[in-house]
Amino acid sequence: MTQDATQKAAKKLFIKTYGCQMNVYDSQRMAEAMGAEGYVLTEDQSDADMVLLNTCHIREKAAEKLYSDLGRLKPLKAEKPDLKIGVAGCVAQAEGEEIVRRMPLVDLVVGPQTYHRLPQMLRGEAPKILTEFPEEDKFDHLPERKVTRRAPAAFLTVQEGCDKFCAFCVVPYTRGAEVSRPVERILREARDLVARGVREITLLGQNVNGWHGLGEDGREWGFGRLIRAIAEIDGLDRIRYTTSHPNDMADDLIAAHRDIPALMPYLHLPVQSGSDRILKAMNRKHTADQYLRLIDRIKDARPDILLTSDFIVGFPGETDQDHADTLRLIEQVGFGTAFSFKYSPRPGTPAYDRPEVDSAVADARLQELQALLSRQQKAAQEGMVGRSLGVLFEKQGRLPGQMVGKSDYLHSVFVEAPDAQIGDLVQVRIVESAANSLRGELI
Ligand code: SF4
Repeated sequence: MTQDATQKAAKKLFIKTYGCQMNVYDSQRMAEAMGAEGYVLTEDQSDADMVLLNTCHIREKAAEKLYSDLGRLKPLKAEKPDLKIGVAGCVAQAEGEEIVRRMPLVDLVVGPQTYHRLPQMLRGEAPKILTEFPEEDKFDHLPERKVTRRAPAAFLTVQEGCDKFCAFCVVPYTRGAEVSRPVERILREARDLVARGVREITLLGQNVNGWHGLGEDGREWGFGRLIRAIAEIDGLDRIRYTTSHPNDMADDLIAAHRDIPALMPYLHLPVQSGSDRILKAMNRKHTADQYLRLIDRIKDARPDILLTSDFIVGFPGETDQDHADTLRLIEQVGFGTAFSFKYSPRPGTPAYDRPEVDSAVADARLQELQALLSRQQKAAQEGMVGRSLGVLFEKQGRLPGQMVGKSDYLHSVFVEAPDAQIGDLVQVRIVESAANSLRGELI
């Protein structure tokens, strides 16, 4: 059969991904698992033979969003009765059978730890709802990764789940306990990605810096040691990781920021609040001062590091003083950017039933906090102007001859570079800072 004919015969898979980079990674792996069954990805939902919604439980009203998206699929299912509809991800894990009960058009529901069994589920060789936490490692059952040469940056999941049990968070319930992938599998996948042209790898985990495992030398490795091993792969220029918990920033990891040029000077380290009272109520298990002292140590190791964070505003019990403490912490650290949200209760979490802060008060606090963070983001970007930075080109820009890539500090940089290719890592002088990006010139 010619390639054309194969393409025509192939079934089409449409995946909608909600939420974080771990879900983006999972969607890629699900697409690869389904690729082995003859499915190719389509960006046109109406053309699909299967629609997979890879859900996220972090944001507000995640379940409601899923049910309204499923409702919108009803006409397509009526028109194409053979269309398969699947729900994956954290809402699938949390809601399970409820999804099929409320939306009978759903053919299968698969949790984050069981999606390697999607092909079996489709063939009817596995239950249509799979949300248990299995003993087997899904990564052992997924096909080898296929990465095109047009993707110079890739994600690699090294750790899943979380044992921290922050009072607002569903992750320990939807993703389960912390599990670290073994060293040799991570290194194999990383080497494979680099062999296929990847120059930047972002290591992923819900609590990625809690990763630990038995190293190639027979010793217990922490996350810093793992990064050192990955940095030795020839052809790999950049390493990043996300998301981290402050209490797992071990000395060796901080030292890695000092010692390893490939480890980019960028760290996302969520703090959530600057008030000790609220940090305690959130069960974060550290104080504001401990966070600040940690930041000092990280900046000692890597003075030019750009820090980013997450903040929850209006957590139950938050007073004006607590809010002021958070603003003060932000002033003290100086973040490159941050994600900030108004607190919203998640069913099943310890904070769910706690009395909420008045909504208008929380809105006003959020605005104040975001205005401060925007000023810091602007200052951080403007501080890049005049500097020479590495930029890894990831795609073409809208203007002729323009390329777009990521700087060492993860800013998007637009560069006029008519002869450049996607995947080139070039030195660029930053000449201008715009709203959410930078403009640079080739050196
Ligand atoms: S450390 Fe992160 S993933 Fe774990 S419970 Fe806290 S917020 Fe959730």
